[in-house]
Amino acid sequence: MELPCLLKIKVTGIVQGVGFRPFVYRLASELGLKGWVRNTSEGVEIEIEGEQGALDEFLRHLRSEPPSMAHIEHIEVSPGEVKNYKDFVIKKSSPSPDGYQLISPDIATCQDCLLEIFDPHDRRYRYPFTNCTNCGPRFTVLEDLPYDRARTTMRHFKMCPECQREYDDPLSRRFHAQPNACPACGPQLELVDSQGRAVEGDQIAEAARLLGEGKVLAVKGLGGFLLACDATNEEAVNSLRRRKKRPGKPFALMVSDITEAEKLCVVLPLEKALLLSSNSPIVLLEKKEPCPVAPSVAPGLKYLGLMLPYTPLHHLLLREAGLPLVMTSGNLSEEPIISDNDEALRRLSGIADFFLLHNREIASRYDDSVAMVEDNGHSLVRRARGYAPYPIKLAYKSKSVLACGGQEKNTFCLSRDNFAFVSQHIGDLDNFETLAHFEETISLYERLFRLHPEIIACDMHPDYLSTRWAKEQQLECFSIQHHQAHVVSCMVDNNLKPPVIGVAFDGTGYGSDGKLWGGEFMVADYSGFKRAFHLEYLPLPGGEAAIKKPYRIAIGYLYALFGEKFFSEGLPPFEMAGSLETRIVEKQVEASFNTPLTSSFGRLFDGVSALIGLRGEIEYEAQAAIDLEVLASTLEDDEDSYEFELDGDNIRVGHLLREIVDDLKRGVPRAKIAIKFHNGVARLIGEACSKIASDTGLDTVVLSGGCFQNRILLRKSLCSLRERSLKAFIHHQVPCNDGGLSLGQAAIANFLSGGS
Ligand code: ZN
Ligand code: ZN
Ligand code: FE
Repeated sequence: MELPCLLKIKVTGIVQGVGFRPFVYRLASELGLKGWVRNTSEGVEIEIEGEQGALDEFLRHLRSEPPSMAHIEHIEVSPGEVKNYKDFVIKKSSPSPDGYQLISPDIATCQDCLLEIFDPHDRRYRYPFTNCTNCGPRFTVLEDLPYDRARTTMRHFKMCPECQREYDDPLSRRFHAQPNACPACGPQLELVDSQGRAVEGDQIAEAARLLGEGKVLAVKGLGGFLLACDATNEEAVNSLRRRKKRPGKPFALMVSDITEAEKLCVVLPLEKALLLSSNSPIVLLEKKEPCPVAPSVAPGLKYLGLMLPYTPLHHLLLREAGLPLVMTSGNLSEEPIISDNDEALRRLSGIADFFLLHNREIASRYDDSVAMVEDNGHSLVRRARGYAPYPIKLAYKSKSVLACGGQEKNTFCLSRDNFAFVSQHIGDLDNFETLAHFEETISLYERLFRLHPEIIACDMHPDYLSTRWAKEQQLECFSIQHHQAHVVSCMVDNNLKPPVIGVAFDGTGYGSDGKLWGGEFMVADYSGFKRAFHLEYLPLPGGEAAIKKPYRIAIGYLYALFGEKFFSEGLPPFEMAGSLETRIVEKQVEASFNTPLTSSFGRLFDGVSALIGLRGEIEYEAQAAIDLEVLASTLEDDEDSYEFELDGDNIRVGHLLREIVDDLKRGVPRAKIAIKFHNGVARLIGEACSKIASDTGLDTVVLSGGCFQNRILLRKSLCSLRERSLKAFIHHQVPCNDGGLSLGQAAIANFLSGGS
């Protein structure tokens, strides 16, 4: 007979809240091994003894077949002295002050739970808070670690005997499922009107009926309230727009299942996988024509943002309503998503007719993530539910760094060791509510990940609220140039070795010379960057006014480059402005009065859109450029292009603008002009990068900045680079827009402070 041995095993990664201990328990029992397993602040700890062969078998299964939602980072095994354990048990958690571990994002409802909620004989039939170790809320109920019910917002609900039995039964799917609940003991729904008066009857059936009647409902979900209405009802959608003060910006939709999604949109295999994944993001999908969805859901757009139900409540509601529903963040225009019942009733009563509430508290606000499939992979446009706070893996060992991100679409990033914890989408930091959300979430992450920042990073822009906040902290602070942060973010996102050739095209970012940058070709690494080419500086007449009224950009650019040459030719921007405003713009440019200079490509897209009469004024960010993309997409395969000129490190646009004006005068269709412009930008990217490549010997290019949410531009740029034998990379884990800045800032600041 073989002598027994003992192993001490430490497992790190996402190993809590995913059925890991039950898995270990079952495995040990099957193999006749004795000892214990417990959660610690760092992960899971196992002490196990038995015959060598059985222990080998145990380790093999532990590595190769962990529970589906688990993600093992590391397994450490060391031998110990045999203790002659009598059985195998799950011990109580042992928190330690400094240890930290990875936290699971919330997980969409699993197939097993789904079967139960639609089975009339199951005790969880139609129960909206059903979950198990494979699915359900995690991060949004978590108040502290280790992950046990007592440290979640589920601590207010005492499990009934039957739930407790499941929780204690190692063979149950709900063994140690911390948010375990049933109709007898768990959270409950409550449907009320805007005065807070209860609506009688079956809450889900009533809610579905009201939605069918065209009412707007505020529905409390995982990380906050969503505003819902019938997406096929033009009147309902319009009243939601009016009340939410959100004129043009597209709304996301939720449909009951993948078959319904395929009725509305073209769903390619990778997109289908993403929709059905446990992350369950909103996926931007090409709209089918004709589309039964009300036109005002996404006016004039080619893509719809679609998601599938990700909680039992959503499944029940969608199936009962039998309609695609608009599901948009429950907030007032740009404020953070509302997560509290009283706050919702107070602040959303002017928007929602009814409120579908529940009494499980939300520990952290958590918006829906938005993703798209490009270049054979997914890219996130907004990173939140289902993704954060899962870390980005770093190729270096980081100090404790807090990077505060940008102003718009803010995220922050806390990094330590080999991990960068990029926060969920916080929002635009231009109101008090969002700043408070930013501060609260930083404290939460510091607490959860036991992180005490040694240094801090922020954008160079002196007026960003995130910059001001960073400078108030009593820590060494590094100001990072916006576009270097974009480029390094994409480099880290793809695990590339520095330096790289970076193309950073966006709306605005503060440049090292105090001007507004945004059309940048650079060679960058952690330590710095060299600006190789940039769009020539052109005036932004009236600053913010030009961003809202792109016809001002068109007039300003034409005037700066050609004087009054085109003023009397009846071009669209002059018609839009009228003679008085045209004169004002002219004066502003001439006197440089309230007219910053910019090298922004985002602004050039806006200007061209206005120049051809497509959109002179915008209702939401980037709308003019988006219209130009939609128009170009009708001729996507066309390869004609305009030409930019490289002049030293300047990219000249005069020739290109003149060609557009000539085409306009000759009556060339605007779609043709739009595609020629996109092709021209892609060609410029290829040519400029090849030039940099031959000067430097580098061959790796990263594309970053909000302009690369333009999918035509993205595809054409990748082709243009690869045709020239350059290696080209786009973002995958964090957004290309300013939501990805914090990751780049964290990496650069770590290096500048003397880190590896
Ligand atoms: Zn489940
Ligand atoms: Zn129960
Ligand atoms: Fe940016």
